[in-house]
Amino acid sequence: MKILVVGGGGREHAICWKLSNEKDVEKIYCAPGNPGIAKVAECVNIGDSDIAELVKFAKEKEIDITVVGPEVPLVMGLTDVFEEEGLKVFGPNKKCAQLEGSKAFSKDFMIRHGLPTAKYKEYTDLDKAIADIDDFGYPVVIKADGLAAGKGVVIPENREDAIKTLKEMMSDKKFGDAGEKIVIEEFLNGIETSILAFVDHETIVPMVSAKDHKKVNNGETGLNTGGMGTFSPSEIYTDELAKNIKENVLDKTLKGFQEDGLDFKGILFVGLMITEDGPKVLEYNVRFGDPETQSVLFRLETDLNKIISAVIDNKLKDIDITYSDEQAICVMLTSGGYPESYEKGKVITGLDDLDDDIVVFHSGTKLVDGKIVTNGGRVIGITAKAKNVKEAGEKVYENIKKINFEGMHYRTDIWK
Ligand code: AMP
Repeated sequence: MKILVVGGGGREHAICWKLSNEKDVEKIYCAPGNPGIAKVAECVNIGDSDIAELVKFAKEKEIDITVVGPEVPLVMGLTDVFEEEGLKVFGPNKKCAQLEGSKAFSKDFMIRHGLPTAKYKEYTDLDKAIADIDDFGYPVVIKADGLAAGKGVVIPENREDAIKTLKEMMSDKKFGDAGEKIVIEEFLNGIETSILAFVDHETIVPMVSAKDHKKVNNGETGLNTGGMGTFSPSEIYTDELAKNIKENVLDKTLKGFQEDGLDFKGILFVGLMITEDGPKVLEYNVRFGDPETQSVLFRLETDLNKIISAVIDNKLKDIDITYSDEQAICVMLTSGGYPESYEKGKVITGLDDLDDDIVVFHSGTKLVDGKIVTNGGRVIGITAKAKNVKEAGEKVYENIKKINFEGMHYRTDIWK
């Protein structure tokens, strides 16, 4: 089987790494990939949103399946174009991708299908939004409707800040067209978690849980980031909670897809707040989460290519999906200054000196003059598994001591 993976971050590295260990997979291409991915796949210089070039490449190389990592090409309709061209692709079509591409679309879906979620209203008129803002209480959650690279949700504490946020989004266009429409919703208190699931037209199968650490500094302090590290399983994900989420969130979501004629096939990521009244859905994403994927795929024993093929053929129910009992951890090394401004191009040393059971997933790196240098805020994820998260963490932190680049930052409490 020849597979093309679209994307070039840590998530795509984890996908390529997993596929590269499977015997049915004879060749993996990754567009555009990165220097880490280049060790397990052939990187191709095509951007992840250049749909026309990706189609051309997939035809030329007779790719069997294209696997899409990031949300942008899915929301743009990559899947629809590939399918029209007779090419097999793993990832939902444009209509389904609206679940991530539009907050208003996904909230409307949740409410219509009786999913537990925060009360909300959508607005395209700034004056109306300002007139209603006090109705939601404070803090209040204001979301740009469209994709905003994970930055489109703001939670002001008071009326003054809320009005400022509304103006920034709706009239100053801080998030461009993504803020033309906004969603205001009630603030939910609780513990945040998420779950990834494989989905075809008939079946939704949750993966093992993972816990994400979003704040930049130890003890959940500092600014929000794209994710400073994950471990799997999440300690809060008890059997009872898993059952509750399966019945009240995942099964209801699948039923909603069927009732709406949304032929969703691919990965669904559900962001949840576990409140006093039970789990409530914060958001849907229509692809693997990054860096949850690094910990979850690290434990997946079943061949990913088999699951992907089964999803595409609507045969997910026939597949037995198993995971290692060992627990996994992925600690992100980031550029100094991230998530605010940071410098790129710092030479990374020590990556060849790590223990054999450590896997490095590259997120933001680049090859310059034969040297691997930093090329993003989140640079690399150091991953290991062991009988428990603490032991896996000890392995990872022991190995991180061997790695260095100017300004390198990481949290030392990811395992907690
Ligand atoms: P979203 O992209 O919708 O998941 O929102 C991004 C982040 O904002 C979430 O991960 C939560 O931390 C927070 N958030 C979103 N909606 C709410 C809500 N209704 N109540 C409290 N926090 C929220």
